[in-house]
Amino acid sequence: MRNLMMPILCALFLFLSGMLIINWQLWHMATLSYTQTAAASTQKIDNILAEAVSAANTAKHVAAQGCTRDGQLELGTEAALKPHLRAVMIQQQGQIICTSLPGNGVLIVRPQTLPNETLMLLPGNRLVNGIPVLIFQMPIADGRVIVSVSDAHLRDVIASATNSADMALVVGERMLARTGDVRDWKAASWAGALTASAHFPFSVVWQPPAFFSLTRLLQQGWSLILLILALSVTVGFLIRRYKGKSSSFEDDLRKAILHGEIVPYYQPIVNGDTGGLYGVEVLARWKHPKSGFIPPDVFIPIAERSGLIIPLTKGLMAKVVNQLKPLLPKLPDGFHIGVNISARHINAPSFIGDCRVFGKGFQGKEVKLVLEVTEREPLIDNPHLVENLNTLHNAGFVIALDDFGTGYSGLSCLNALAIDYIKIDKSFVNRVSEEKDSTILLDCVIDLAKKLSLRIVAEGVETREQLEYLNRNEITLLQGYYFGKPVSYIDFIKVILSKPRETMSL
Ligand code: C2E
Ligand code: CA
Ligand code: CA
Repeated sequence: MRNLMMPILCALFLFLSGMLIINWQLWHMATLSYTQTAAASTQKIDNILAEAVSAANTAKHVAAQGCTRDGQLELGTEAALKPHLRAVMIQQQGQIICTSLPGNGVLIVRPQTLPNETLMLLPGNRLVNGIPVLIFQMPIADGRVIVSVSDAHLRDVIASATNSADMALVVGERMLARTGDVRDWKAASWAGALTASAHFPFSVVWQPPAFFSLTRLLQQGWSLILLILALSVTVGFLIRRYKGKSSSFEDDLRKAILHGEIVPYYQPIVNGDTGGLYGVEVLARWKHPKSGFIPPDVFIPIAERSGLIIPLTKGLMAKVVNQLKPLLPKLPDGFHIGVNISARHINAPSFIGDCRVFGKGFQGKEVKLVLEVTEREPLIDNPHLVENLNTLHNAGFVIALDDFGTGYSGLSCLNALAIDYIKIDKSFVNRVSEEKDSTILLDCVIDLAKKLSLRIVAEGVETREQLEYLNRNEITLLQGYYFGKPVSYIDFIKVILSKPRETMSL
């Protein structure tokens, strides 16, 4: 289940991000479309009002003639031929003197009381037939022309928007929505975007699209959603496969530790002056039943990351005790046995206990147990690490700073830690050759170690020149293929038998 969590979360994150982008794109397109629809509706109402202006001009002319019978007929014709207009009326000196309706009928209740506004929406209760209208007015000598526009045509314009933009016509404080009568706009709490006419005092108000709409997503973005879904599932699947591989390696390693497949190899550390055996470094090897020996560079980093380094090191320590204890009579007094310790282990609560168990294994024997702490990881960051190592140093363990010169710890670490000696990394020793300037780096590292009064072990000695250089620099503790490669327990016994016994202490 733990292994599934990460791929599922990644796939989900990808899918939701994709949905967010699709939704944003659709919302953006919808907003654009709504804006265009509102502009088109405004234009249509402008066109309707242009008819009203034309009819008003005709009425103005009729009024100038004194509203004759012909003039009245002309008004009727005008209203009949202009499809969106309902009636045209002429008011002079407070009286309706002429209308387009038969028999000079009047549609508006008390038209004389209408305010003098160019455009206004009249609710149904102000009309004889109870149907609301839009009124356009034009001033003339001694009065005004009143043109009414049928609400049905305005509603058609508002409702013709093919998208679901909810629209209303707003004139002054009043509005006419798709359904219902003329209402007070502000009281109706109809907040939205406004598109104003450039020619007449009205606006079209419309509800902008919601940022998120599931219906819109499913209707318009389904093909992209399917694509994103397929992509997310694929990515999740690939992560699962990749994770599966690395976690199965971890599982294999866990089993290997349990089955005792991690075995110690021993590399001699010699005294360069005498060639005598001074100690050993324990190096882990994975004796894989199918793949043969796996080098530590492959599995140690995974063991460190997963925390398996702790049981791994404990297992190695136990094996070292079992293998080397019977050999101690053959080994010099004060023989150094070095084990590599990872920072992760030093920080663990069990660390001091684990080392004490290791020490107890050799109780009563003249050996020095060396904890090789690599400088490749930052050491000083954790105060427990320094505290733990110093506790063990006080308990008789030897502390060696491994890979000196390659890592992080710096000089501050040397001050805080009780270090017995440093191991100069093989990468510095390897550079030493007959070539001029090949020793510059190593000169510096040795110089630094000497200035800090630190004892030195040189690692990775492979050639005669390297040995001579180290001798010239009075470095006597040496390790490398020149003296012997890391070997199995059986081969190590042979090495012991071939070397002179030597007693040494740091
Ligand atoms: P290290 O602690 O610096 O160990 C020395 C490495 O240099 C070993 O590689 C050794 O085989 C190699 N070496 C020694 N002399 C020579 C030489 O003359 N020439 C060359 N080319 N190489 C030489 P190895 O055994 O492959 O170990 C690699 C690293 O893996 C070690 O570096 C150490 O950091 C880590 N390691 C090995 N065993 C353990 C372990 O039990 N625990 C932990 N935490 N790390 C381990
Ligand atoms: Ca080491
Ligand atoms: Ca090294």
